[in-house]
Amino acid sequence: NNPLYWFRRDLRLHGNEALIEAINNGAKEALFFVCEKQWQKHNVSSIQLDMLKRRVDYLGGELAKLGIKLNVIETNDFNSLPTSLEQFVKLNNISTIYANREYEINELERDYACSNIGIDIRLFDGDVLSPPGSIVTKGGEMFRVFTPFKKAWLSLNSTRIFPVGRRVDAIGPAITWRVPEILKSDGQSEKWPIEDHIIEKVISQFIFEKAHKYDVQRDIPSIKGTSGLSPYLALGIISVSELIGRLQAESPDVLIRTKSAEFSYINELIWREFYRHLMFVYPKLCKGFNFNEKYNDVNWLNKDSDFKAWCKGETGYPIVDAAMRQLNQTGWMHNRLRMIVASFLTKHLLIDWRWGESYFMSKLIDGDLASNNGGWQWAASTGCDAQPYFRIFNPITQSEKFDPEGTFIRKYVQELESVPAKYIHFPHDYLSAFGESNYSAPIVEHKAARERALAAFKV
Ligand code: FAD
Repeated sequence: NNPLYWFRRDLRLHGNEALIEAINNGAKEALFFVCEKQWQKHNVSSIQLDMLKRRVDYLGGELAKLGIKLNVIETNDFNSLPTSLEQFVKLNNISTIYANREYEINELERDYACSNIGIDIRLFDGDVLSPPGSIVTKGGEMFRVFTPFKKAWLSLNSTRIFPVGRRVDAIGPAITWRVPEILKSDGQSEKWPIEDHIIEKVISQFIFEKAHKYDVQRDIPSIKGTSGLSPYLALGIISVSELIGRLQAESPDVLIRTKSAEFSYINELIWREFYRHLMFVYPKLCKGFNFNEKYNDVNWLNKDSDFKAWCKGETGYPIVDAAMRQLNQTGWMHNRLRMIVASFLTKHLLIDWRWGESYFMSKLIDGDLASNNGGWQWAASTGCDAQPYFRIFNPITQSEKFDPEGTFIRKYVQELESVPAKYIHFPHDYLSAFGESNYSAPIVEHKAARERALAAFKV
């Protein structure tokens, strides 16, 4: 009996039941595949890859302290992976593999192909709070609306106590860890710490200082009012169930007081869950199809110059431009802004949501197929329980509401640094009164663009 643990996007020692089970059953080795070509096919951003590599390196070191060897193997893509796995398994006489399930179609197919090499693969659902397929309507189907999904989720989970602090113990004396060349970091993601003791501080700070006002601060991009933990969740560096456990440790009835600020945070974690379940039940979402086929005939304009202006943050709409520059410069964007820029691209510019989805993926440090696709299809109105097509965000009023003083805009659109708050949300008349300006002219006029979008979606 020689079990093995296979790390994927579950790069953690804490709250990893699959890993604990593997070690309890005698696993002394773990495995991670570096799959550059597959990552390219999935459009994974270079900043996320850098973070992933730093974290695998860190894990290798932590595992070595516990006497567990992490093998890092390079393979091209998911086509070549089963053969690489087979070789490893034969060479090391592996009997059983433990891992966490991933729900994207390519990952599911990879696991299916690996199961055909004749090894016992035991898969756990460590990336979700309830496995896909377990939260269904009375008729046994996936919910198509979020609120009843959430209610069903709560009726299963609200009295559950989520465990905290379960971690792997040492199995023997420490061994040596040497960073493989393929894990060398290019430093892009260094602003995001990957060491557990620092991440722990970020989690505690959120729970003790921010969670109680999350509901009022979560929509203001100039405030760090959200957890900022999405990159860690996307790579499985922290477990969603441990996060809930931590909140429960502070307020044991957090899953019952559904009007509380803390619950509004959990509400977002349930959205994450909803999109994962949807992707599992509707694999077409991984293949770029609209959830709602009614919109298959929308005539996207896909004007190249508009797309370029949007990508660069040069649309002439300050809140959109500040948001896109935040993404380009940091690899992260505030949720309110993701909704605004996605609406602007798909409605004001009538550009296919798939272009935006792909651009986001190529830049985000927290890029995650299910949440990204869910967010884009929500904004484009093509998704499951999406924004109705006729509700089109006005980028000027959104800006006035969520960045009233223009604090966030000024941080990223330096051309507007000295524009007073009153004018900053649409500064063109103000700027022209002063002559020359180096800020972009608006690439569309709001009202006309809105009418154009309504007409396109009605057809
Ligand atoms: P918090 O406000 O602290 O939220 C807590 C956690 O809940 C997040 O870390 C995240 O894991 C989850 N979450 C929050 N909002 C959502 C949501 N709307 N849908 C699903 N999960 C959510 N999130 C990603 O993790 N990866 C993506 O690639 C991604 N792409 C998006 C694209 C668009 C167009 C939109 C509108 C949203 C997208 N989101 C994505 C969701 C959301 O914007 C981010 O999760 C959030 O901004 C991350 O910041 P945070 O950790 O501070 O969030």
